[in-house]
Amino acid sequence: MPVTTRSSSSKQKSATSKPMRNGHDDSNELDDGRKHGQWGRAWEVDILSLVSVICLLTFCPLMVFYFYVSCNHYDCALSAPLLGILNGDVTLGQFWSQLPPITADGFKIVLSWVAFQVFLNYLPDLFHKCVPGYVGGIQPGAITPSGVQLLYRVNGLQAWFISNGLFLLNGLVFKWVSPTIVFDHWGEMLWVANILGYIVSVFVYIKAYHFPSGAKDCKFSGNFLYDFMMGIEFNPRIGKWFDFKLFFNGRPGIVAWTIINMSYAFYQYHTYGYVTNSMWIVNILQAMYVVDYFWNEAWYLNTIDIHHDHFGWMLGWGDCVWLPWMYTLQGFYLAYKPVDLPLPVAAAVLALGLAGYFIFRAVNAQKDYFRRTNGQGLIWGAKPKYLEATYYSSDGTERKSKLLLSGWWGVTRHMNYTGDLMGSAAYCLACGFEGDILPYFYIVFMFILLTHRCIRDEARCKAKYGKVWDEYMTKVPRRLIPGVF
Ligand code: NDP
Repeated sequence: MPVTTRSSSSKQKSATSKPMRNGHDDSNELDDGRKHGQWGRAWEVDILSLVSVICLLTFCPLMVFYFYVSCNHYDCALSAPLLGILNGDVTLGQFWSQLPPITADGFKIVLSWVAFQVFLNYLPDLFHKCVPGYVGGIQPGAITPSGVQLLYRVNGLQAWFISNGLFLLNGLVFKWVSPTIVFDHWGEMLWVANILGYIVSVFVYIKAYHFPSGAKDCKFSGNFLYDFMMGIEFNPRIGKWFDFKLFFNGRPGIVAWTIINMSYAFYQYHTYGYVTNSMWIVNILQAMYVVDYFWNEAWYLNTIDIHHDHFGWMLGWGDCVWLPWMYTLQGFYLAYKPVDLPLPVAAAVLALGLAGYFIFRAVNAQKDYFRRTNGQGLIWGAKPKYLEATYYSSDGTERKSKLLLSGWWGVTRHMNYTGDLMGSAAYCLACGFEGDILPYFYIVFMFILLTHRCIRDEARCKAKYGKVWDEYMTKVPRRLIPGVF
């Protein structure tokens, strides 16, 4: 049953002819304060955002190296290097000498990996022709604020399968290269991934000024640091099929995630003679998450990373460095410190991870089904309740949307994030309770990331849907935990 609330006139508004400031049209304000096409990232930078940007740009790269050194030289004790420096036991020079070296092998491995992923990116997708239920091949993306709808070559599942299949065959049968290659060169590769992340970020920044792929969807805040980090171009591309967001978001990082984990498992096997149950749990749960991502790659075209974020350092460097190094910390830790959980604990951790995955998948699938059936399909066995909303792209065209009030989307506003957090907690808990906080960093990070994402997303939805969004917030008052938060 629709609960109809119109937040503005349903007549199509015409595009304005007033001049633009930084490409930003001020004249198209609607009566409820919304502006045409102004529901992406911010146009203006407040001081708090700027301070956050400076902190992230400065500390994130340092953190990744710091975590690596903590495990490699300090028995995974996260506070040890810092305490050592503070109490004078470790000089900055000594700490510097503990950083991994820059080597030719590091360059060879990372660059051949990225080149291989570029090659796979251009292969036509065969999986959608032979795997029942899989949506791949050429697929449309979401409509951008300027009203453009791009086509994408969705072939991530194929790329994942080929890459991971080859790595597994190599490790178990052919032994072309050592299956512990990732673990063995992890530090050296970190340097190269950083260089790549910065080159990509600087390139898209310059490209946005000189040869943007979609000039109408560029956003210039006028602040160099903010634009560099949050991105100017919405969908930078080279040619027709090399899409920076789709490529860097999924490949090389997410395809590599499971390979990195396998390399840690091989390392355990080679070093200790067996693979611990905790390593199996981490490998299985994270592989489910990764395969889910590629199985639903066409659907991910509509999620925040692809649909709303602009492409800058946050995605460029983040996908090259932060994701592969910080999302795989549990396996890294277990390679140094093998943990065998008592069977009931292992079963409970696995159950938590599976329950989290089930909720995460069910919530995402429910919204997808609801939007695809335009509110006509049954949700939890009944006709869904929803709000009718309108929004405007920057050319002034009125478009319609629906906000689901039934099922998971009536329990809290972001139950998919709750499921994601349960899964993340399970990865960390699999590392046991040896007194180390390093493997638990992930759940802290995910909690900050996803609560910040809730806030960002809700501000965007408010700018897009106006009073209808307020009504949704009143009807579904909690963000993540029913009855609590
Ligand atoms: P969502 O899939 O939750 O999408 C949010 C969007 O859904 C909103 O912007 C709005 O978009 C629409 N929407 C909001 N409420 C409703 C409603 N009641 N009914 C219908 N549509 C609604 O968020 P994300 O894109 O952030 O996340 C996708 C998945 O990816 C999540 O499961 C998340 O956990 C996961 N994720 C994982 C990350 C990781 O690093 N591991 C990082 C980020 C996400 P619209 O404009 O279409 O109305």
